[in-house]
Amino acid sequence: MAESSQQEIIKKKTNQQDLSNSTTPIESIVKGVPLANTYYYSFAEGTPNSVKQVFSLAIATYNNTGIVKLVPGTGEAGQNTVVFSTYYTTEDDPDVQQSTEELGKGGPEIFKSSISSYNHGRALINLQYPDEAISQAVATHELGHALGLGHSKDPQSVMYPMDKGMTALTQNDINTLHAIYD
Ligand SMILES: [Zn+2]
Repeated sequence: MAESSQQEIIKKKTNQQDLSNSTTPIESIVKGVPLANTYYYSFAEGTPNSVKQVFSLAIATYNNTGIVKLVPGTGEAGQNTVVFSTYYTTEDDPDVQQSTEELGKGGPEIFKSSISSYNHGRALINLQYPDEAISQAVATHELGHALGLGHSKDPQSVMYPMDKGMTALTQNDINTLHAIYD
């Protein structure tokens, strides 16, 4: 059985109310799911070096917490994986609102069997807006989704749904990683 979810990061052209110091939620499909803390990561074929670089910075940020361990490779059956890739949207897409620019997307996919559960996460950068989307902040946000973090209301959090250029995890982000992986 598999369940997947995907969240977006956007650059909004209008202002929204900010709520500082909010906890970073766990993506709902990850709640209560026991997951190993090791992930095998790989890049989809054709991923530009510039995108690999920003995802590599994001990988280092999460590895530096000591909570999760992302190592290069494709993993074996039943292991956690993350695949990094790119995509394009256009302003003409019916599901793209005129007031937003979607810079990336990502999320977990949870597999459950009688003996274990594991996550095949994905993190993607939108090459439609390369100047804004190929950034450490967007990569850190989307990898956060892949690892099970949801959207925070705190504009200081890398998991705030609008790009504020944040690249360092807040204590609330770290606390939520502990809640998922400890
Ligand atoms: Zn998001």
